[in-house]
This record gives sequence, structure tokens and C-alpha cells, in this order.
Amino acid sequence: MDFHAQATQPHPYPHDLTIPQFLLDDASHPLRPTRAPGSRWLIDDSTGRAYGLEEIRERVDRLARAVRATWALEEGDVVCLYSQNDIDYPIVVWALHRLGAIVSCANPSYTAGELEHQLRETRARVLFTSASSLPTALAASAATSLKRENIVVFSPPPPEPQPSGAGTFATVQQLVLHGWTLDKNYREPRGPKAGDAVAFLSFSSGTTGLPKAIAIAHRNLIANVLQCAAHNRTNEPGVPAEERFARPGDVTLGVLPFYHIYGLVVTLHAAIFQGMPLVVVPRFAFQGVLESIVKYRITHLYVVPPVVVMLVNNPIAKKYDLAHVRYVMVGAAPLSREVTERLKRQLPRARVGQGYGMTETCTVVCQVRLCAARESKASVNGSAGTLVPDTVARIVKPDGTQCGHDEPGELWVKGPQMALCYPNNRKATEETFLPGGWVRTGDEAVITKDGLVYVVDRLKELLKVNGFQVAPAELEGHLVVHPYVQDAGVVGIPDDMRGDLPIAFVVLSEEGRAAAAAGGDKGQESVVEEIKKWVRDHKVRYKWIDGGVVFVDAIPKNPSGKILRRMLRDQAKLVVDTR
Ligand code: AMP
Repeated sequence: MDFHAQATQPHPYPHDLTIPQFLLDDASHPLRPTRAPGSRWLIDDSTGRAYGLEEIRERVDRLARAVRATWALEEGDVVCLYSQNDIDYPIVVWALHRLGAIVSCANPSYTAGELEHQLRETRARVLFTSASSLPTALAASAATSLKRENIVVFSPPPPEPQPSGAGTFATVQQLVLHGWTLDKNYREPRGPKAGDAVAFLSFSSGTTGLPKAIAIAHRNLIANVLQCAAHNRTNEPGVPAEERFARPGDVTLGVLPFYHIYGLVVTLHAAIFQGMPLVVVPRFAFQGVLESIVKYRITHLYVVPPVVVMLVNNPIAKKYDLAHVRYVMVGAAPLSREVTERLKRQLPRARVGQGYGMTETCTVVCQVRLCAARESKASVNGSAGTLVPDTVARIVKPDGTQCGHDEPGELWVKGPQMALCYPNNRKATEETFLPGGWVRTGDEAVITKDGLVYVVDRLKELLKVNGFQVAPAELEGHLVVHPYVQDAGVVGIPDDMRGDLPIAFVVLSEEGRAAAAAGGDKGQESVVEEIKKWVRDHKVRYKWIDGGVVFVDAIPKNPSGKILRRMLRDQAKLVVDTR
């Protein structure tokens, strides 16, 4: 059977608007609450500097002019944002969208190799980076065809010490000022299909294999923003004040990274659309976040499970008065029932709930309706809420038959928010984006008679560490390049704090065996250390193999060479049990 959302978003989904046209120009949407004139939209956490709508529109327009004049970007050109959160991050995104360019956001902690992969895959022509990521950006761009003069920094690097070879780079502010000297030199995409154009190339490994670009259209993100607003009953007439999800005076914390789809869609676009100013936090630091919650009287918190674990476990949290927090929305990875209950005890005035989604679904598929007292109670039992409007779900058994209520199987979903495809990757696209508009999630779920979705397991090989994706195939591909390694298989072991910890099963090469044999146990230890270092030196922190390295004689595979991950996971359990 197909499970339908309990509600429909009551207005047409605009296919003729790009994201900035929808968010910045079209004030008339019935789901959009009216904001007081001059109200703040974006606030810089550290300085308190704020932009209202008019200033945002000006900056976006001037930046678009300068970018157009400097690099002659055209519709469909790709620009990479390799930066921590910044009050100008959305300004850059929307300026590029005004030009019809495509934005590809990269994790600012990526190593040069990881960034290089993304630059190559997307053929990015220009790169915006934060000063702290500039040295790595330079190393990555040197290995690609991206020219130095096509690199922009958000703010100038501190005067001393300069990263070697940094030279001078244009800053966003300089470009905005330059834009003031220019006549309008670009034409925005318009017309009935403007919303069909690709807005973002985000990266995900999907159900299998390496991280790959996903094409997300303007209309996908706009749809998800409207679905969230309708699900939350934002601006719905007749909703009693205490049930209103967003009220005048509410403020959201933008601490989720904007380069990940959850931060990009849910905080940067949906929260702003629903009328809440967004306090932009450049980097996560627990105590800093607590201070900001108090300082800005944050009412809406969007976080990942490890942050909730810190909130309930770290005694520092008790020193802060978090009484203004009314809603805590948790997503990107499962949140256990126990931790949810503990957070509710700690913040008795807040409603706590989970949302579920993925990059391929342009984020939200289902979400606990925190505006509804009854439904938000359901969150204690670990549900990821109900389907957002106009979303249809199917639970499919391995033999292809469909499940009814309360039966577990793979979750398939469809709706206006579903991304378009993995561009230039027909095989992966056909495996995930199925006929009829269905997206295979690779997650196991059940749906109850009340329409509540429970994500019970992950069927796909993807690991999630601190809410971030770790693709085993990427680590395996990296490990086998090391001279000590003949073959490798990576799976996850569960970790209360971080979700999964990658553990590597390794078949040593002759050279590796010789190194391990030399010096007895010490030799083995040094080979383990060498293999871990090989990952540490080339991969971002959350991909490190903190679950350990285990030497085996063979990696279990099926006759066509595919790793039998279930067997490896069982082996990992044994390893954990014997530790
Ligand atoms: P990403 O594309 O990085 O957002 O990762 C999407 C994946 O994260 C999903 O396919 C799930 O495996 C996992 N995920 C996201 N939200 C939840 C949740 N609330 N519960 C369980 N898993 C989740």
C-alpha cells in the first residue's frame, strides 16, 4: 500500500521562480508570515551585525553584478562554496542563483584531496572560501584547472601569519562594493520553467559507492520549504497562539553547517521563510552555542543527535538558562528514545522531535509536528514524525512486495521535493531515482496506523558519524592504495555519541605482512598505526577509522566481488564483544 501525507500544502508549488525570487522578491505567499518592517533576517553570532531584507537584496544584487563582470559566469556554470557558516554565505548563494549559476557546497574541513574530487566532479569555475580554509583551497585548486584569480575569500585572512603563497584575494565585501560601481549587467532566469533549473550540486554516496553529485532544482528546495511551513501550520489562520510554531520574537540558531542539506534547507531557507531571524554561527563549539542560545534568546534549535547527547551529558549545559528554547528539532541520524526523554526532562518547556530526510530528497520527508502537542508527544518513542504534505511513502520488502502498517521494509518516497538525479551517472540514478518519481532511501522503516514513521535500520552501506556521511567505498578505495594493504572492507560499529565508528577489516599485502612480522606485537601495532595515519592524513576528521583496524585473511565477497557487508558487520560485533 502507499502511505499518503495526512495533509496537502494548500497552494500551488511555484515552478516559475528561482530560490531568491521566491524568498527575497515574492512577499505575497500566503504561507509566509508578515515580518515587521526593518526586521532582522540574518545575524552574525560573534559581532551581532544584522541584515534585513532590503540590505540582503542589495548585497545579493551588487555581488551578482561584480561576479558577472569579473568571471562572466553564465547560466549553468558551477561555483563551489568551501566555507564555514558566514553571514554572507546565503548572500553568495542567492547572488549566484540570480545569475543562473549552480552552487556546490563543500565541507570546509575537507582535505585538499577531498575538495579536489568535488572541484573536478562539478567542474567548478569559481571558489568562495573562508580564510581558515584558504591554504587547503589553494592546494586543491592547484591540482585542478581552477585558477588562483577565481578564488574569493569571505573575509580577509588575518594580516599575520599569511598562508604561504596566499597573495591577495578578492573578498565578498570588495566584490559587493565593486558591484555598486556597475550597471545591471545580468538577466535573471525567468519563465515558466525557471524553477526546473539546477540550484545545487550536493554530494552524497546514496545507497552504495562513492560520494557523487546530486542535482537539486530550485523547485525542489522551494517545495520543501513550503512543505515544512504547511506541516508546521505556519501562518495558518485560526491556529491558537500557543500552537503557533513561529511567533513574533522567535529566533533560530544557524549552527548546522550550511554545506549540508539539513542546514541549507531547514535552517537557512525554511526557518527564514517562516519569519524567524537566523543567528549565523561559523563553527560548532559547545559552550559557544550555549552562550549564543542565552544571548540571542533562541527559541528554535535545529541540531544533530551528538549535540543532544552533549546537552544531556555535559554538566556545563546545566549552567545555562535555556528556558527560551521552545522547539528542538533533531535530524540527520537516529536519536534514541532514552536521549529524547532525557532532553525533555532537561528542557521541560521545549517540544522535542525528530525529522528524517536525505540529500536525495532535498531534506525533509517526515517530521514530528512540533506545533501539535499530541504529535510532539509521539517523539518520546523515537518516531521521525509524519510525512510532510504531498509526500507519499511505500515500504517495500526485499522481494519487491509492499508492506502494510507496522511491517518493516525499505522506505521509498516521492513528492515535489525529490532531487532530480546524479548527473552523468546513469547507473546510480537508475538505482535510486525509480520510475514513477520514487526515491529508494536505503533505510528500513515502519509506518504505523497513525501515520508515524519509524526509521529502524540502515540497509545501505552508508555510515553516519556525527550526522555526516562516511562512504565505506571511499575509505576502502583509499586503504587499498597503501602498500601494506591488499584488500579492505569498512563497516560501522554503533557509538552512543557519534552514531557509527568506522572499523576497517584489512587483508595485508606481502609488504604489510613483513612489516607486521618484524618486531612481534610492536610490528602489528605499528602497521595498524600506519594504516590509521594513512586515513588521518588524507581524510576529514569524521572519516577516520576510530573503530579500529582488524587484520583478516579475506574480505567476504559474493561471486561478483561485492563485499558481504552483513558478514563484516557480524565480525565487527564479535570484535566489539571481545574488547
Ligand atoms: P544525508 O543525505 O547526509 O542527509 O543522509 C541521509 C541519511 O541519514 C538517511 O538516509 C538516513 O540513513 C540518515 N538519517 C537522516 N535522518 C534520520 C533520522 N531521523 N533517523 C534515522 N536516520 C536518519
